[in-house]
Amino acid sequence: MEKLIMIKYGELTTKKDNIKVFIEKLYRNIKDKLSSYDVYIVKDKVRMFIDIKNYDENEIIAKLQEVFGIHSIVICYKVNKDFDSIKNESLNLISNIKFNTFKVETNRADKTFPYNSMEVSKLVGAHILKSIPNIKVDVHNPDILLHIEIRPDYSYIYFDEIKGLGGYPTGIQGKGLLMLSGGIDSPVAGYLANKRGINIDCIYFDSPPHTSIEARNKVISLAKILTKYGSDINLYVVPFTEIQESIYKNIDPTYMITIMRRMMYRISEKVAKNNKCKIIINGESIGQVASQTLTSMYAINSVTNIPVIRPVACLDKLEIIDISKKIGTYDTSIMPFEDCCTIFVPKHPVINPNINKCIEYENLIDYEKMIDTAINNIEKINVKDYKFVSNDIL
Ligand code: ATP
Ligand code: MG
Repeated sequence: MEKLIMIKYGELTTKKDNIKVFIEKLYRNIKDKLSSYDVYIVKDKVRMFIDIKNYDENEIIAKLQEVFGIHSIVICYKVNKDFDSIKNESLNLISNIKFNTFKVETNRADKTFPYNSMEVSKLVGAHILKSIPNIKVDVHNPDILLHIEIRPDYSYIYFDEIKGLGGYPTGIQGKGLLMLSGGIDSPVAGYLANKRGINIDCIYFDSPPHTSIEARNKVISLAKILTKYGSDINLYVVPFTEIQESIYKNIDPTYMITIMRRMMYRISEKVAKNNKCKIIINGESIGQVASQTLTSMYAINSVTNIPVIRPVACLDKLEIIDISKKIGTYDTSIMPFEDCCTIFVPKHPVINPNINKCIEYENLIDYEKMIDTAINNIEKINVKDYKFVSNDIL
């Protein structure tokens, strides 16, 4: 009996027209994820099978649990399709487990098989009952659920399903630009964008010496964690000091944050367009801070035409924190290095900014020139290959 990992596809099965493209993308993403293992993968319209040879199955499963587009991961046993093989191997497998109650569930994809699903379940169940003493069938709450899947070439027997991440394969939708700060929200936004099939690059606004090398390294570390979910991330580090100082010196403190964010959006749009990113993604959450009221969002968003998605817009902070813990970014996010926003925060930022006032204030500074200079001096970092110099490591 051959032991394999069976992959059940996620939501992509609902996309009838694009199903081939989806499966192909998922296949490539799984291959990339397992590139350091010499495993063999075959795919069809409803399932993928991975022959993991002698590798540690838990290690491979942990990797697969970072791949979007997978509904569930199953350790299964491939057996011949004739009924006797199914019956005998089912008994063999279940005999190795201690249990009191069980149930057999059959899924017959091959309609030419001589018995229907109910009959297979009943007959195999009867065979097991007859062969193992002191056990019972319990259809509602069994200790053990034995699955039999009868497919055109072979049958597959398995017990537990391990939940996958769901979503669409990362990259199927093309690429977006994530505004990545060192906080909790934006890495979660990036992860959720990956979940809808979006590949990400990241942009970070760096304001040395007001922000530290540690703050910058923290952002690189967060981006490195995000690469787990399928994106080969380029991080664009924008030198933002000149713009920020100019805002600080020339603009009414209540409008400083609003104007600063309008500058970030302007720069992000250009960087997105220069790098084939179709949208901007950020970690704004409605009402969280003054710049995230609906009126603020309106005033800030009005400088750009590119779609901006805010995957955590409607989540509570606690919900965002839960996700950040689950995806492994939380511990890095809470490291205490300030980013550029926290240093220049005025006491009373406007919560209902007026667009005309924004324009009036912006006319006090030569922002177009400063934006061009900032863009010309962007540092591009390929996050996966990036090596921290020894005492920078977080
Ligand atoms: P986060 O927890 O992600 O830092 P936040 O609650 O601190 O978010 P803000 O500082 O107002 O909120 O920023 C809102 C969003 O703007 C962030 O989630 C991020 O997407 C983007 N952003 C803020 N600062 C920067 C920065 N220095 N570089 C890149 N993006 C930034
Ligand atoms: Mg922040």
